[in-house]
Amino acid sequence: MTEKFDCIIIGAGPSGVATAYNLVNAGLNVVIFERGETPGSKNMFGGILYSTILNRLIPEFWKEAPVERHITRKRYSLLSKDSEIAFDLNFNAFNKPPYNNSFTVLRAKFDKWFAKKAEDAGALIITEAVVDDFITDDGKIQGVKVRMEEGAVYGDVVVCAEGANSLLAEKAGMKKKPDPGIMIMGVKEIISLPEEIINDRFCLEDGQGCAFEFFGEALGGVTGSGFIYTNKDTLSVGIGCPIAVLRNNRLKPNELIEGFKRHPSVHNLLRGGKIEEFSAHMIPEGGYNVMPELTKDGLILVGDCAGLLNPSLYKEGTNMAMASGVFAAETIIEAREKGDFSKAALNSYVKRLKESFVFKDLKRYKDVPEILHSLPGLFKEYPEGIIELLQGYFTISEKSKDENRKEIMRTFKDKVSLWKFLIDMYKTRRFFR
Ligand SMILES: Cc1cc2nc3c(=O)[nH]c(=O)nc-3n(C[C@H](O)[C@H](O)[C@H](O)COP(=O)(O)OP(=O)(O)OC[C@H]3O[C@@H](n4cnc5c(N)ncnc54)[C@H](O)[C@@H]3O)c2cc1C
Repeated sequence: MTEKFDCIIIGAGPSGVATAYNLVNAGLNVVIFERGETPGSKNMFGGILYSTILNRLIPEFWKEAPVERHITRKRYSLLSKDSEIAFDLNFNAFNKPPYNNSFTVLRAKFDKWFAKKAEDAGALIITEAVVDDFITDDGKIQGVKVRMEEGAVYGDVVVCAEGANSLLAEKAGMKKKPDPGIMIMGVKEIISLPEEIINDRFCLEDGQGCAFEFFGEALGGVTGSGFIYTNKDTLSVGIGCPIAVLRNNRLKPNELIEGFKRHPSVHNLLRGGKIEEFSAHMIPEGGYNVMPELTKDGLILVGDCAGLLNPSLYKEGTNMAMASGVFAAETIIEAREKGDFSKAALNSYVKRLKESFVFKDLKRYKDVPEILHSLPGLFKEYPEGIIELLQGYFTISEKSKDENRKEIMRTFKDKVSLWKFLIDMYKTRRFFR
């Protein structure tokens, strides 16, 4: 390829496409290289697209985008081995546009649609094209080496949107090999069920969706969580577990998801469903504490590759990915006007991130992964203790209620040190603020 581009983008996920969409709309000549057969074909995520940024780029996008359902109901469950307590939230206000900017989507359909929007606006998207390395001159990135004939491609600036498995960012010396303690292995199945059964089983009207998150003993007592999100006529069912936990306990992710699906509370929701797909992907949960260098001469990192994922209850990766794409594009447009693509010039990207919700949220929740790892009781001892306590409280017997309460408190204190429990609960306050 002999043509020189204003910008080369590696990866057609939400961050890469958002960058391209903004650049082509400003008249720049942009190419995206995507290793998948089509954008999205290699991609998976839990399933909730957070869309404040997308709604700014393509107002009322939900009228044409392949969204499955908008989320009106959220449920957070604590599981013990065979029981559950849950906090269920249902907001009618989320039934109205912009639907709380939360939609379930399937990446194979959504990424393809979003990439087509960028293509229609003028971006060149080349699929089945793996970028193997950067072309560098005197430390400055000049282009990329693509695994194809005449694969040296040049550009003023390269945006690396390759996702969590950031081999190229490592090659460029921007990131170290990921620490298995902060990389989560996400495993997900798509399970089909008729739309009416999903509506009835999850108490939803047509178009409404829900997100169920499961904590405690969702993974048989090890650190991690499970989820079920409703699509139109399928469910996204999955688990996330730190790679270090899998390795140290010699656990296989497929065994963990099977165990999760066997839990009585989960099994009842999936009954009669047929597995259509199985996929696995890494989630970078290190966040703010392990942020890589985000720019160098001629190069910007965006999205998961830059570690931009909120690891708290929100798990907001897609919105941050798109926001970083928008900020990268604004920075490139400014740099082009000055004719300066040096690290110093591109650093206004970092400034934009810092002034936005992206860095503010990453900073606020920066200790969440570490707190979770330091509190193994959250995944076995406490859920068991709390659920037993509540079960005892609601058990009908011929003991007086006072006698019953004293007995269940005694049993709880035998199992769980009250002081340790209170201190640990205090440490988790950051998850909810
Ligand atoms: C299990 C799981 C559950 C999640 N749940 C949610 C959720 O519910 N909500 C949410 O908002 N976020 C969620 N996330 C996070 C979210 O998926 C990411 O934050 C988001 O996809 C990041 O977008 P991205 O464009 O940076 O990277 P990606 O979406 O990973 O896209 C990277 C693209 O680059 C391509 N690529 C990679 N290397 C090369 C190469 N060398 N050459 C060419 N192309 C390349 C890939 O094929 C891919 O298309 C989840 C993630 C996982 C793994």
